Amino acid sequence: MPSYEWSHEHNAFVKACPSCQEVYVGANTEVESIEVFKKDFRYNAKWSDGFHASCTDCRITSTLKWRGAKIGYGDKKRMFVQQKGLCPICGCEMIYRGKSTSPKTACIDHDPETGDVCGLICNLCNLALGHFDRNVTRLKQAILYLTRIKRRV
Ligand SMILES: [Zn+2]
Ligand SMILES: [Zn+2]
Repeated sequence: MPSYEWSHEHNAFVKACPSCQEVYVGANTEVESIEVFKKDFRYNAKWSDGFHASCTDCRITSTLKWRGAKIGYGDKKRMFVQQKGLCPICGCEMIYRGKSTSPKTACIDHDPETGDVCGLICNLCNLALGHFDRNVTRLKQAILYLTRIKRRV
C-alpha cells in the first residue's frame, strides 16, 4: 500500500511524514507526485512502496540525534525560516537541500561537545569551522594573522 494518498483539499497526492508531521504536496497525477516526493523522501524501487517512511530532513535529524545533537524533528525548517535562509557567517543565501558538494547547502551546525544546535550555516562556512576545529583561539589568531598581512601592504 502506498504511503501517499489523494487529497481533495490540495487537489493533489500528498505524503505525510510521521516524524515531523509535515504534509508534502505532490501533483495531480501519481507519476508526477512520485517525482515530487523523491525530492523530500529517500526513494528505492526495491522498497515496498518505494519511499522511506520519514522525510530526508527527519532521517538526517535522527542521525544527528544519535550523534548527541539536541535537535527535534522539523527544527531545520524552522531555523531556515527564522534565519530567512541566510548564512549567519558569510551572509549568503543558502540552498535548503543542496548537494553535499554545493558550497551553499544549508548545514545543521551543532557543537559536538555540548550537543547544542547553533543554527544553519552554509557548507563552505561549515567546512571552514571544521578546518579550524571550531577552535575560537585559532580563529582569532587567523584574523590577527590576516590583519597583520593587510597592514603590511
Ligand atoms: Zn519529516
Ligand atoms: Zn556561510
